Amino acid sequence: MANSDNNRRKFMATTLQSVGLTALGGLLWSGYSDEVKASPLVLRPPGAIKEDDFLHACIKCGLCAEACQNRETNINRETGLAKAGTLKMAKGGDHKLIGTPFFIPTEVPCFMCEDIPCVPVCPSGALDQLSVSNEAGELDINRARMGLAVVHKESCIAFWGIQCDACYRACPLLGEALIIKMHRNERTGKHTYMLPIVHDDVCTGCGLCEQACVTEKPAIFVLPNDVAKGRAGDHYIKGWDKEDDKRVKNAEAEETVTELSKKGNAEDYLNRGDLY
Ligand code: SF4
Ligand code: SF4
Ligand code: SF4
Repeated sequence: MANSDNNRRKFMATTLQSVGLTALGGLLWSGYSDEVKASPLVLRPPGAIKEDDFLHACIKCGLCAEACQNRETNINRETGLAKAGTLKMAKGGDHKLIGTPFFIPTEVPCFMCEDIPCVPVCPSGALDQLSVSNEAGELDINRARMGLAVVHKESCIAFWGIQCDACYRACPLLGEALIIKMHRNERTGKHTYMLPIVHDDVCTGCGLCEQACVTEKPAIFVLPNDVAKGRAGDHYIKGWDKEDDKRVKNAEAEETVTELSKKGNAEDYLNRGDLY
């Protein structure tokens, strides 16, 4: 009898241990799978290749983040110590692929260093030096496309008629990437709205505007290009733009046949005059 009690106790202990280990394993796995999923909202360093390719190419060496933190302009002259760098390496809880570099503009934006120290040190090609170089082969940070700044009109106080140009003044490409557009305030009849407008062909996604924004939660913020930008497709053409006209060559005809369309074209049907 004592022997069978012992066996039962042993069995219960083993079962409870396995249940505990399974639960812990499940917890660890869900945390792990959360971290390995590519986050569509992550901002990568200048020169980063397309996100899917980046995740395969980056060997998680941390050289870009190290170069960013130790760059000359980031060293406190009095103490000789480096300040927090723009680039961070993702760790558990960051909800980004662990070990990959990223930045958060509201914490530390990219200061668009002319010599872009973070890019040439990348040994894997995850950061592509050519994409941030000009025709002469010189590094050109203005070619970086880390993301695109987007203005949320409803929370931007400039759209309320309150004068604010903090983002405009913070932009390193002031007057090009970010312009101020004057617009008459019809409500008061005697004031002018000064509206921040982002030009997507110039904005680098550095995030200096986001960090400078005066609202409680920034009314201007940088999103990855894939998230921020729409796509008109090949079927819509700017007839007045010869370059844009070329895109129609890629368009494939797609015809939808309905009972009505079989009877004739839509115009004939609408003009027949017997609709009413
Ligand atoms: S360009 Fe931006 S990310 Fe690169 S080193 Fe300078 S501040 Fe850091
Ligand atoms: S992210 Fe903002 S500050 Fe940077 S280039 Fe674009 S508009 Fe200018
Ligand atoms: S700083 Fe913010 S609130 Fe001010 S104009 Fe720019 S986006 Fe609008």
